[in-house]
Amino acid sequence: MTQHYRITLLPGDGIGPEIMAVTITVLKEVGQQLGIGFDFTEALIGGAAIDATGNPLPPETLDTCKASDAVLLAAIGGYKWDALPNDQRPERGLLGLRAGLNLFANLRPAQILPQLIDASTLKREVVEGVDIMVVRELTGGIYFGQPRGIFETKTGERRGINTMVYAEAEIERIGRVAFEAARKRRKRLCSVDKANVLDVSQLWRERMTALAADYPDVELTHLYVDNAAMQLLRAPTQFDTIVTGNLFGDILSDAAAMLTGSIGMLPSASLGASGPGVFEPVHGSAPDIAGQDLANPLAQVLSAAMMLRYGLNEPAAGDRLEAAVQTVLNQGYRTGDIASEGTTRVGCQAMGNALLKALEEPR
Ligand code: NAD
Repeated sequence: MTQHYRITLLPGDGIGPEIMAVTITVLKEVGQQLGIGFDFTEALIGGAAIDATGNPLPPETLDTCKASDAVLLAAIGGYKWDALPNDQRPERGLLGLRAGLNLFANLRPAQILPQLIDASTLKREVVEGVDIMVVRELTGGIYFGQPRGIFETKTGERRGINTMVYAEAEIERIGRVAFEAARKRRKRLCSVDKANVLDVSQLWRERMTALAADYPDVELTHLYVDNAAMQLLRAPTQFDTIVTGNLFGDILSDAAAMLTGSIGMLPSASLGASGPGVFEPVHGSAPDIAGQDLANPLAQVLSAAMMLRYGLNEPAAGDRLEAAVQTVLNQGYRTGDIASEGTTRVGCQAMGNALLKALEEPR
């Protein structure tokens, strides 16, 4: 074994444990093939943690995560905990994890797989070849800026206030993550802002432009967010990597994701400056199909591929997982959420077996 990694597994709720089980088996197989060792430690989060300890993020879970090289999370939440007050809900566990690990960068790829092109609501000729990475700043901007709140004025009228604020250091650190991500891709980075109206965006654009000097191999362009939204729908193949702030990124990453049309296929990564990142599918815990062997495990497997690529710097292993996903789709295997006429409908476990077989095939 050349390398050994400590991975914290957070299966969470709903379909989480099912898709996690499949992912562990394929990770072990890839590790064995490439001489990479994984020490897996499972910990509680979300509803499962509430049931066991009363806390959606028990301190020992955060400690385990902090002591690992990467965190692989499935999904949290479900009907059972919907009636709890906001500060005790499973989602709090997720927010606490992001804050506790200081994860300021969210990476959301949106790739159209040729086998699933008809799942998109847009025309084939518009989305064919789409392969976008949205890098969103996650811990700053208008979601966290001060002052915020609803205040009563002297006349008795109430005013709601939020503040969009970015310090130079915050712009620079998300910028560096984005330039590095673009380097691992097609080396084109588009910074999205609203510099024609917002002062905070003028500083954003200025700092991004200055950073570009450190990455001469990456081509930097800028777009205003309204134009970026239009271009994403009009001609999405023009984009490679996009970097933007928290609010714009929240919206654009969902818009980009929906170009693909299939939520069960979308992975994500959240990274900090140092320490472990968290890798998780975009979808939730799908309580409507939990425990029925119906879940699509591919977003979770692709999240593990992102973990290998961006969290552990093992791109060859990430490539291998992604290639296995392509193979099973080419072979026609589909879970219910992505099934179409002429394909072979399989459950979560059977999809896992097909992935294992694809990995074992000689290359
Ligand atoms: P969801 O993503 O769980 O489900 C939306 C729809 O997509 C459902 O019909 C579901 O069956 C389907 N679906 C989702 N993932 C699938 C998969 N892998 N395979 C097959 N089908 C899949 O969103 P929701 O229904 O709005 O939320 C359910 C619960 O998940 C809620 O408690 C919510 O708070 C939570 N949630 C958690 C996360 C997270 O853990 N990051 C994200 C979103 C929602």
